[in-house]
Amino acid sequence: MRPTKTVGTYLFGRGCLDNLKERVTLHAPGEDDCVVYFIDHFWRANEKMMPRLPARNKDVIQFVDTTHEPKTDQVDDLKIEVVTASEGRPIKLIVGIGGGATLDIAKAVANLLTNEGKAADYQGWDLVKNPAVKKIGIPTLSGTGAEASATCVMLNRAKNLKLGMNSIHTVYDELLLDPDLTASVPREQYFYTGMDTYIHCIESLAGSYRHAIADSYSRQSLELARQVFLSDDMQSDQAREAMMIASYLGGSAIGNSFVGVVHPFSAGLSVVFGTHHCLANCLVMNAMQEFYPEETKEFHEMLKKQKIRLPVGICSNVTDEEMEKLYASTIIHEKPLRNALGDNFKDILTPAKVAQIFRRM
Ligand code: NAD
Ligand code: ZN
Repeated sequence: MRPTKTVGTYLFGRGCLDNLKERVTLHAPGEDDCVVYFIDHFWRANEKMMPRLPARNKDVIQFVDTTHEPKTDQVDDLKIEVVTASEGRPIKLIVGIGGGATLDIAKAVANLLTNEGKAADYQGWDLVKNPAVKKIGIPTLSGTGAEASATCVMLNRAKNLKLGMNSIHTVYDELLLDPDLTASVPREQYFYTGMDTYIHCIESLAGSYRHAIADSYSRQSLELARQVFLSDDMQSDQAREAMMIASYLGGSAIGNSFVGVVHPFSAGLSVVFGTHHCLANCLVMNAMQEFYPEETKEFHEMLKKQKIRLPVGICSNVTDEEMEKLYASTIIHEKPLRNALGDNFKDILTPAKVAQIFRRM
């Protein structure tokens, strides 16, 4: 059994971003202390964010380009950049502001600042030896649960592998959960990322592996996600508040639960086509009727209710070679597939069957 850690300290509520100054001062009180801010590039020059940050001249502001999902070599480069920019002052605190990608990058760099070597050395379970630099997370997009989880997902191009630093040291020390910050998220993005929570919860609750605490988090998270996506306006003030809580609860469940059939297929799309995690999940969910019949029906209702049109046909013209890669990068996820389908999952998901499912997307 592995111990579980979730975020112990948080503020929740509209406008709580304005409490950042007092939280930062608590962790980095010294004249010479340096605070590093990783901020999603969307917020560059944004009046709702930048003037409200308590950054001083000697702090480091690093904008993160989230056009692509985080990579291990990108994390290595960012670590060097912020160390250079800190000019020898002690980095006492990391603040991550953004969606899952930026939150994950901030977590990964915080681990690397206190642990020698490269990001790739820590992809796996419990490889991070020393506690990370203290960190505060401020999500501006709800759904991945990255603000609460004990992992930070990175693509390792050399190994063709997408894996996180799964460690209790990866968990944020504090969160500021301010639903006002998600008001600007584009509709499609809001839906896809929110669905990550929904999909994670339905997968984990349908699996054979059970954990009573994770189940509780998942059930509550699912209920909130249903309220949001079956409502008339998934982006109302109230819905964005509910979605921020759902994401936090879903992320708290991740450490103690396993996903199912959707995430392995989604990983296949990400590895082969570079499709972003949350969109890839939705493309897969669209074709999951035989594994999750009720939930697939509900997912279609949600799409309809929110008037979201999913891209279709991502695999309609794949080559045999691409299909082989898709199969390999799906079937490699043994733990979730065993959780969902049992030990003989390879008899169910034969290469022909997997190809048929991908072609259905
Ligand atoms: P993201 O962080 O990749 O951001 C998606 C887009 O939304 C970007 O263009 C960004 O600029 C924009 N954006 C963010 N906040 C905005 C705002 N308030 N207004 C307008 N635009 C905004 O998206 P995501 O879906 O949150 O995260 C996906 C990443 O999370 C992937 O890299 C995935 O691997 C990772 N992930 C991590 C965990 C975990 O537990 N650590 C779990 C699931 C997924
Ligand atoms: Zn996910």
